[in-house]
Order: sequence, then C-alpha cells, then structure tokens
Amino acid sequence: MKAISVLGSTGSIGTQTLEIVKEFPDQFKVVALTAGRNLPLLVKQIQQHHPEVVALADESLLPELKGHLNNLPIEERPTKSPQLTGGPDGLNTAAAWASADLVVTGIVGCAGLLPTLAAIRAGKDLALANKETLIAAGPVVLPELKRSGSRLLPADSEHSAIFQCLQGTPWAETARLSTGVPTPGLRRIQLTASGGAFRDWSAADLGKSTVNDATSHPNWSMGRKITVDSATLMNKGLEVIEAHYLFGLDYEHIEIVIHPQSIIHSMIELTDSSVLAQLGWPDMKLPILYCMSWPHRQETPWRRLNLTEVGELSFRSPDTTKYPCMELAYSAGRSGGTMPAVLNAANEEAVSQFLEEKIHFLDIPKSIEIACEKHKDDLQQNPSLDDILLVDKWARESVREQVKKNY
Ligand code: NDP
Repeated sequence: MKAISVLGSTGSIGTQTLEIVKEFPDQFKVVALTAGRNLPLLVKQIQQHHPEVVALADESLLPELKGHLNNLPIEERPTKSPQLTGGPDGLNTAAAWASADLVVTGIVGCAGLLPTLAAIRAGKDLALANKETLIAAGPVVLPELKRSGSRLLPADSEHSAIFQCLQGTPWAETARLSTGVPTPGLRRIQLTASGGAFRDWSAADLGKSTVNDATSHPNWSMGRKITVDSATLMNKGLEVIEAHYLFGLDYEHIEIVIHPQSIIHSMIELTDSSVLAQLGWPDMKLPILYCMSWPHRQETPWRRLNLTEVGELSFRSPDTTKYPCMELAYSAGRSGGTMPAVLNAANEEAVSQFLEEKIHFLDIPKSIEIACEKHKDDLQQNPSLDDILLVDKWARESVREQVKKNY
C-alpha cells in the first residue's frame, strides 16, 4: 500500500490521481490533500479519501472549510477529522507529510515551487506534473534532489514516455531516474505535440481567436492554463526545458514534432540510431499511474490501444512563425540561469491576462518576449531560491505594466 499526497487535488491532475486511488484501493491510499479555492469538491474528496492532513492555499477559507465539514450529517462525516491547515506554511506541511511515500504535484504554476521543495527536503518521491516548478527553478531543484535522495518521476505524458523508454535501455540502472545528469546512450529526444486548439487554423485567422477557442483542446481535457499553453505551443516549449533538466540533454538534441493523433507520447533516439517510442490513448491517468506504481506495472482494465482503430499516425514540423512561444522557450532555456523563470512567470501572467480578456491571444508571446528581453542584463547564471522568487515577481509585474500601458 503506497501512501499518496496530492497537491492540487481539485484540479485536472489531482482529480485523475484520486480516481486512480479509488480504482485501486488495495494499492494506494491518500494521506494529504491540498487545494486552492474549490471547497465543495475538496469536502467530497475528504469524505471519500479520509486524508490525515488537508491544506488550503488561501488560509482565510479555513473557517468556511471547517463549517462545511461540521455541517455534514454525522453519517457523512469522515471517520477521523483531518488536520486542517492553510497558507504557504500549511501547503509545505502537507507536502512534507511524514506518512507519505509519494507526492503528486498537481498545483498549477510557480505556486507549486515551495511545496515541491518542501516535499523534496522531506525526502519524498515526487510524481511531477507541475512542470513550471522545474522550469523556473531547475538550478535550485536539481541540487536539492541530489541532497535529499528524492526521486523525480515525470507525470507529464511526454516525459513519462521518455522515462518509460529509458527503462528499456541497457543503461536502465543509471538512466531510470531523472536527475538532470546526462543520460548515457541517449542521443536525441523527440517531444510530440498535438498542435493544440489552433493546429488547423491559419496564422492569419489567429487574430480572430477568442478565449473560448483557445481553451478547447482537440485531444486532451486539462486545466485552463495548460490548455492555453497548448494553443500557443508554449506548453511544448516549457516541456523542452523540462526535458533538458530531467534528462540532461542539450537543447540541440531536444526536438518538437507535431503529431495530431497524440498516440505516440514521445520518442528517444539512442546512440546506435534506434528510436524507441511509448504509445497509448491520450489519457493522463496512464502516466500518473506509472509514477504511482513505478518501478512496477499495475494491471488495469483500461481501454487498450488498437492501432487499426487509430488508422493513421502522422507527423510534421512545427510552424515557428505561427507559434513564436517555442523559440522563446528554446532561447530562454539556452540562456539558462534565471531566464527560464522569467519566461515562465511572464507566460503565467500573460495567460492569466488573456483568460481575463485583458489582452489578445497574439499578445501572449509579445509580452513574454518583452519581459525576457528586459531581463537580459540582469540574468544570473547560478541563482538562489530567493533570486528565482524575485525574478518571478518582477516578470509578473513587468507584464502587468505592459498591459496597463497598452490597453
Ligand atoms: P488545474 O487548473 O486543473 O488545477 C490546478 C490545481 O492547483 C487546483 O487544485 C487548484 O485549486 C490548485 N491551485 C491553483 N492555484 C493555486 C495556488 N496559488 N496555490 C496552491 N494551489 C493552487 O491544473 P491542471 O491539473 O491542468 O495542471 C496542474 C499542473 O500539471 C500544471 O503545472 C500543468 O502544467 C501540469 N500538467 C497538467 C496536465 C493535465 O492533463 N491537466 C498534463 C501535464 C501536465 P482550486 O481549483 O481548488 O482553486
């Protein structure tokens, strides 16, 4: 029985993780949950999973959460009341909870950074979905992993695919953990991309796109922020940096290929030119489950892949003019140091302004480019955690100022 903590339990990753726990009650149990503001769903999760601790990002909502739990009919109350906590310290407490074996990081954005570090410092293994944490703070997170011995298991479907392929290489013993150290025998990574909401739109038509268009993903059902990131292809750019930190390859050897069917979740090329791929229906439960059961394979009754049903697998190169975010990400990754943190924070802020309809879709890459350009002279190559938190704050403010000036 593995004890699981779920950070961001009310989100897309969090709810899918809890569905897995529910489906395999002999294998997994929940010991800690954290959420942002969705109290009704959190209450249901507490009733269902009986966690030992629950943390709310917004501490001021704690009395309301207590009220909800106290008002439940006696027969519907959890048998043992969880410890309730909140705010940044509360999230860290839940992330570092002693009885947890694995922490699933499903918080969206750089808000996940401090809880992730708390889990690492407590020596917990992590199922990393919250990619923004590694992208913003790779230079801080990787040494912390080394110090604590925590294992970083990638839950992002592309990185899970790479990770799964690496298990099948002769170097598996050294390659199977993601430590940022160059993976022996690995020559090239090809990250597949569905192409997002606008894959079949012409570049000229993007000027007419709305929030509704950008949040309708053709293949995956995910939270709003990552769905917009998929529409700009910034998600793939962020994944390039994530792959660099996880698998230690330089940026020249991490490529993006558009694969509209989302059946091949990514590929690796080995030094003998052999290419390995991992395939499956587009369903995040599979990579999440693999993190939860690793190094074992859990038997499931899930829908099995039928390639004759898929019919065709196609591939093309991404259009870098239509999707400037990819190049911005490569460039920030190559600059290294604090630049990926600026790219990430500017993107988070720009996406949030877009979702609030304060800027247009096409303004997202422009805002990020301006923030990265402004940061060039202040770039720090070996940043501390404080440096990263400072540039994160600065980049968000910088985007907000641009928006105020232009609208
Ligand atoms: P969602 O928006 O669906 O969920 C986000 C979760 O984080 C919710 O539980 C939310 O709480 C919580 N949250 C929001 N803001 C804060 C905050 N400031 N502090 C603490 N908790 C907060 O996101 P997703 O599940 O889609 O994505 C989560 C992460 O996983 C992202 O980093 C994303 O890139 C990554 N990922 C997601 C995939 C997917 O299929 N969804 C695929 C691959 C990676 P509440 O809702 O209660 O306010």
